Amino acid sequence: MNHTYSKKMIQRMSRVSRIYVVVMMALVMGLSGCRQDPAVVEDPKPTKAAVKVPSVNGDTLYGFVEKQLSFGHRIPGTEEHKACKDWIVEKLKGYGAETQVQEFKASFYDVVDADAYNIIAAFNPDKKHRVLLAAHWDSRMVAEKDPEKSMQDDAIMGADDGGSGVAGLLEIARVISENPIDLGIDLIFFDAEDNGTPNQNNKSWCLGSQHWAKNMHDPNYKAKFGILLDMIGAKGATFGKEGFSQRYAKRYQDKIWSLGQRMGYTDLFVDTPFAGIEDDHVYVNQAGIPMLDIINYDLQTNKFAHYHHTHKDDISVIDKRVLRVVTQVVTAAIYKESTYHL
Ligand SMILES: [Zn+2]
Repeated sequence: MNHTYSKKMIQRMSRVSRIYVVVMMALVMGLSGCRQDPAVVEDPKPTKAAVKVPSVNGDTLYGFVEKQLSFGHRIPGTEEHKACKDWIVEKLKGYGAETQVQEFKASFYDVVDADAYNIIAAFNPDKKHRVLLAAHWDSRMVAEKDPEKSMQDDAIMGADDGGSGVAGLLEIARVISENPIDLGIDLIFFDAEDNGTPNQNNKSWCLGSQHWAKNMHDPNYKAKFGILLDMIGAKGATFGKEGFSQRYAKRYQDKIWSLGQRMGYTDLFVDTPFAGIEDDHVYVNQAGIPMLDIINYDLQTNKFAHYHHTHKDDISVIDKRVLRVVTQVVTAAIYKESTYHL
């Protein structure tokens, strides 16, 4: 037989609890009345549970990747590149972001002084409390890791390497346009990140962020922290803790990883550390803004994933769930930051 409570017993119990509460309140009030110092009154802050995090949309995200690929290869100096830039700028303006383009010249491989563009979009430009989100929007002009040697000199589509991070930023811009956020958000789409020379000169990568770090769009620009999205949408991805992020932005990296894990995505956000990667966050960190990198890296082989810098990096490598989950965690991070600080 199960133990049951009669209605009378329940009523008696709740009366007892009411008496208990009144006694406790009297005790607490009595105690604070005895204090010499005035009680510290804190601003009523919304509780963590009160933060409303809007949802991102996997189909929209996927569509943003497809749209970038529809322009073709986004290699600085080409018409396809310029057309994609115009589209990104138009989308950002449509979402109500204050958008500007920072032009510079980029030289890589046999290309000299190509027209290159960092695209910078601000939500709530007057707010002091700001977070910077970034990705690179160019795609790579060679496929040096492709198993087919005859195709190694051909440009890759860069669906994940380039396309996914841009899709994430655009989706966040869309979400903000529909769900006002009490925080300054800057989105920077860095150009000419991915056309460096392997194993030769680290400075040949990340030309857009190098240029920006030396010529910030606002000389007094400051953000509390930054998040870089690079290769966030591939099937089978895992996001370990990248080395430079650990060194420069550990506090935020740890918080965002544990947020991702609490949201249930323990298969994607794993605590395993790995090597520092030459990526745009290195230069943003050098400019004084702690920035972490969310980047797919194969922790088993200790290398980039199998499709990296090969022709496999096309739309077929994109996994809507992975792309959505990472974008959702970053969205949660900024809405939480806007309410109670991470
Ligand atoms: Zn790359």
